[in-house]
This record gives sequence, C-alpha cells and structure tokens, in this order.
Amino acid sequence: MTEKPDVNQDQGWYYLRGVISRCHETAKRKGWWEKYKYLSRTSSDFQELLPDIIGSKLCLAHSELSEALEEVRNGRGPKEVYFSHTLMDEGGVRYTSEEKTMKVERPDGSVAYLKPEGFGVELADAVIRIFDLAGWLGIDLAELIRLKMEFNETRSHKHGGKAI
Ligand SMILES: [Mg+2]
Repeated sequence: MTEKPDVNQDQGWYYLRGVISRCHETAKRKGWWEKYKYLSRTSSDFQELLPDIIGSKLCLAHSELSEALEEVRNGRGPKEVYFSHTLMDEGGVRYTSEEKTMKVERPDGSVAYLKPEGFGVELADAVIRIFDLAGWLGIDLAELIRLKMEFNETRSHKHGGKAI
C-alpha cells in the first residue's frame, strides 16, 4: 500500500481544501446563504431546518448532473465548451446567441461576460455545489476524499465483481 498522504502537507490536498473553501466563500458572497446567517447553529430552529437545507442543496447539486445529461441529449461533445448570452432583436424578441469566448465586446465598447456552458461545465457546477455545501457544514471534504481514496485502493477488482 502507498504511504498515506498528509492532507496538511501534501500540496494537492492542501490546494483542494483551498478550492473547497473558495467555492463556499463565493456562494456566501453571492447571497446563497443569507437567509440562514442569523440562525444560531446550536438553536433548535437550526437543527429542525438542517435536513431541509441539506436536502435543497443536494437537489441543486443533482440538478447540475441533469443539466450535464441535457448537454449529451442535445448532441454536445463531452469536451465542448460554449458561451451563451441572451440578446434582443430589433423587434424586441429575445434570442440566445453562442460565442467561442467568455468575453465579448458590446457595440458600445463595454465588455460582457458570457456564461460558460457544456457537459464539463455542468460537472464543474455539481462539484462546486457539493464543495459549497461541505464548506457551509464545516466538513473537511479534502480529508474525506483522501480517506475514501485510501480505502478504495484496498478494494478488490470491481469491488468483488459488481457489474457497474
Ligand atoms: Mg449549471
């Protein structure tokens, strides 16, 4: 068996912890945890709401995987990344345009940032949402990934003959 990496010393695990923290900090800054910030974590209200909060966040993570499936259903290649934005034609009808880059220059010279889309982007969204939830709950997901991978290394081929 390989030597157990130290999540505090190994740079890869250390940086993963930083990424997890950043995912949660960004979500907090964008207001996704605002409604819970006045709830004391030791209150009975918090304990009662916790399963619902976790449930809704898990549903959102799962919705990203459904979006990934939709990309496949729409015939997109797994590595395809595109950037979309909604525009309005001269008649006031909204339509979606696709670009090859995230930044585009508007007719007035200002820069617009377009939303990245594609199968891989949706996988990234799912991971970002999971990291956000783990960050909010104070779960050391980097350490748990290391722990689970250490165990997976010890498992038998196809975990004892499972089909998938
Ligand atoms: Mg998404």
